Amino acid sequence: RLAFDRAHLWHPFTQMKIHEADPPVPVVGGEGCDLLLANGERVLDGISSWWTCLHGHGHPRLVSALERQAARLDHVMFAGFTHEPALELVARLRPKLPANLTRAFFSDDGSTAVEVALKMAFQAQLQRGQRGRDRFGALRGGYHGDTLGAVGVGELENFMTGLFRPLLLACERLEVPEDPRREIQPDLTGWPERLASARQEVRAFFAAHGDRLAAFIAEPLIQCAGGMRMWPPELLQELRAQCDGHGVYLILDEVATGFGRTGTFLASEQAGVAPDLLCLSKGLTGGTLPLSLTWATEEIYGHFWGEPASGRAFLHGHSYTGNATACAVACASLALFDEEPVLARAAALHEAMQAAFTDLSAHPAVRQARVLGTIGACRLVDPTTGEAHASDDRFGWHLHRRALDHGLLVRPIGDCLYLLPPLSTPPARIRDAAETLLDLL
Ligand code: PMP
Repeated sequence: RLAFDRAHLWHPFTQMKIHEADPPVPVVGGEGCDLLLANGERVLDGISSWWTCLHGHGHPRLVSALERQAARLDHVMFAGFTHEPALELVARLRPKLPANLTRAFFSDDGSTAVEVALKMAFQAQLQRGQRGRDRFGALRGGYHGDTLGAVGVGELENFMTGLFRPLLLACERLEVPEDPRREIQPDLTGWPERLASARQEVRAFFAAHGDRLAAFIAEPLIQCAGGMRMWPPELLQELRAQCDGHGVYLILDEVATGFGRTGTFLASEQAGVAPDLLCLSKGLTGGTLPLSLTWATEEIYGHFWGEPASGRAFLHGHSYTGNATACAVACASLALFDEEPVLARAAALHEAMQAAFTDLSAHPAVRQARVLGTIGACRLVDPTTGEAHASDDRFGWHLHRRALDHGLLVRPIGDCLYLLPPLSTPPARIRDAAETLLDLL
């Protein structure tokens, strides 16, 4: 079977020399926070299978919701039709979100949720007469997906931002500092001054570009694929104020941070900031099926009405938009938030993560250990020099392989090692994971 895989399948992120000797690992099952490998081994899913899995694999409530809905109505096109799972999902989710977000638009994954938000923002600006707003603002070094629009507002070279530059949206970048208060051993010398000057830079950015921007997009509090960079909530508040002051829509991409990952249901709650457009995916179905939502304000929705000939409608919608089975699973996942202490478990996981990264931070190969909610991260350095490894990716990849042999799935991003396990992971498993990593570093 592996020979067949090698001959015919095209996996993401694998056409690289360092992966040459590594065939993909066959997985035959998922059970709670573990993946079951074909060779009989059990592996802790330390990164929630690309940050999707919330309640553990194969949660019986999600599985039975999937089976029941697929048997009743698997799917129906969403233009001109509606169904109970979509209505229930939106009704369940809305009270958990900022009150200004009243309109829910379905799509398929994180990238398309971002794509929808970018298009809505641009078109809404046009339809309110703002014709010169032909670009976006975004944080430096971000990632918002790999469709062309999303790549355009991202800035990760390994997602080919450079290669595709001629095809991408115009985007102005703003750099924000990491927040030392998240670190296990913070050095806060000069921090109030650094924060004040970062705030000033946000203002200067909007003074320079504010009247050309349709929207500013950011992941709140943490740039995940950007290397788990945790940034200050005060700057998100400043972004909100500047967007308001300059007529720019604020898009928050909570594709990775939503659904309790950072300790609160949304990360942006911690800054008390409500966006104009909100992107949700990954944890939306608890990690079982692909689905995403872009939430918009009534103000934005209001710009899309008109006579058919006016061309004011939002002409966007995919074949699987609002898939009934995925919506039913998402309802079951959200019901768990209401019926089980999911956020209390996330708080316990946060404590476990603090302890694990405190232990890791004592290792000479570890720098800048930090935690936000259930996400723990650190930099890996060469212990003899204290500097980055000569080849970060290679070091991270070797660590990934060795950890897998020891029953732990981690997948560093460059020199950033992180854990982002299902919210249902027992704290003792995080202790074990830290011990495994300490042995391997
Ligand atoms: N936005 C963020 C913040 C993400 O982390 C990701 C995926 N890592 C995406 C968008 C894209 O989501 P998807 O891979 O589901 O298209």
